[in-house]
Amino acid sequence: MPGHIFGRSTRAKLPFAVGGEGCYLIDAQGRRYLDGSGGAAVSCLGHSDEKVCAALHAQLDRLAFAHTGFFTTEAAEALADRLVEEAPEGIERVYLVSGGSEAVEAALKLARQYFLEIGQPARHRVIARRQSYHGNTLGALAAGGNEWRRAQFSPLLIETSHISPCYEYRGREEGESVEAYGRRVAGELEAEINRLGPETVMAFIAEPVVGATAGAVPAVPGYLKRIREICDRHGVLLILDEVMCGMGRTGHLYACLEDGVSPDMITIAKGLGAGYQPIGALLCSGAIFDAIDRGSGFFQHGHTYMGHSMAAAAANAVLSRILDDGLLPRVRAQGQKLDAALRSRLGQHPHVGDIRGRGLFRGVELVENRETKAPFDPARRLHARIKTAAMEVGLICYPMGGTIDGRRGDHVLLAPPFIISDDEIGELVDKLAIAIDRALVA
Ligand code: PLP
Repeated sequence: MPGHIFGRSTRAKLPFAVGGEGCYLIDAQGRRYLDGSGGAAVSCLGHSDEKVCAALHAQLDRLAFAHTGFFTTEAAEALADRLVEEAPEGIERVYLVSGGSEAVEAALKLARQYFLEIGQPARHRVIARRQSYHGNTLGALAAGGNEWRRAQFSPLLIETSHISPCYEYRGREEGESVEAYGRRVAGELEAEINRLGPETVMAFIAEPVVGATAGAVPAVPGYLKRIREICDRHGVLLILDEVMCGMGRTGHLYACLEDGVSPDMITIAKGLGAGYQPIGALLCSGAIFDAIDRGSGFFQHGHTYMGHSMAAAAANAVLSRILDDGLLPRVRAQGQKLDAALRSRLGQHPHVGDIRGRGLFRGVELVENRETKAPFDPARRLHARIKTAAMEVGLICYPMGGTIDGRRGDHVLLAPPFIISDDEIGELVDKLAIAIDRALVA
């Protein structure tokens, strides 16, 4: 019996990817797919970036790996410097890992250890939001609010509580101002902290722009500032999960810069390695680092491949492309064009309820009824049909069934490479519109 690998679906027959060129992936039959979602918001530089490839070759010629228990490396130190240089105020230290879930696990453990070191051992509770995804390892899964992902593993998960997301399309009531809506949903955090007992609450974790579970849903202006104030009032740490929305995806290196908020910790991954290497990072405030440094001097955590030289070299080259080659303003400009093209092609579509997002991070929500916003019957699996139809027309996009009012609804997440051209934006939107219509009649 040959030892075939298996993925999330044990039955799916997938095409073999054999090459990549700019914004396109190429399969073994020579078919080209426009990568409209960078896989899962990963490939922010496309698939054949010369500078990143050259940096990887150069690093491999020097050193592939040195264990962080024994050595640090120029590549890892340079990466930490650059990430902190660009980070929101107060963020001073970097803990390198290999992906998003690892970054979130590290954040939860660092929060717990911080409170032990400063003499507040009762703090252990985590509050997060429904309709959020923070990873698939057990701590990160416990933090995430997606019931479908959590359900069968619930006996294994640490206790967390979930408040409402900031989801204007479905959450804001008629006549309610955007500001009042933001205040109302942020207020749920304060109520939950008080319900649990502030002295027991360790951290609140949220994605500034919600990705996989909701389809590029940004918080309304002022919401995150309010959340920051509430955390400060109760001594609760604010962890912003930018694994998907960070690293320039929204047009700013850290999405929270646009909200004017400095968290205590930030998690990043995906775009940091841009798919050239697996890498993630946890960034934390100087205050958290200092408490541990002055206390035990040892963060009780670690993974074999943390700070891997090849991954750090790739990330340095990716950051240099994003920051030194003018890609942030480009993301903002191309993002506006993508938004305009989506609105023009799909804005009046009878089954498109909402088009939203920031930068090159956009979401299209499908509804059965535009007036009532009623989602499609989940049994129809519209999102899965859109994915298949899109691949048939040569488009990679990231459709998902989110959780809407306790039911699963459908959206398509778009996160194309930052180098996407105007023509490619046109192609993306054309192919997406075709795929949606084919999926609706399938
Ligand atoms: N956090 C967020 C916001 C994510 O979107 C993801 C992945 O989609 C993760 C964490 C987990 O990252 P990884 O799949 O690299 O473990």
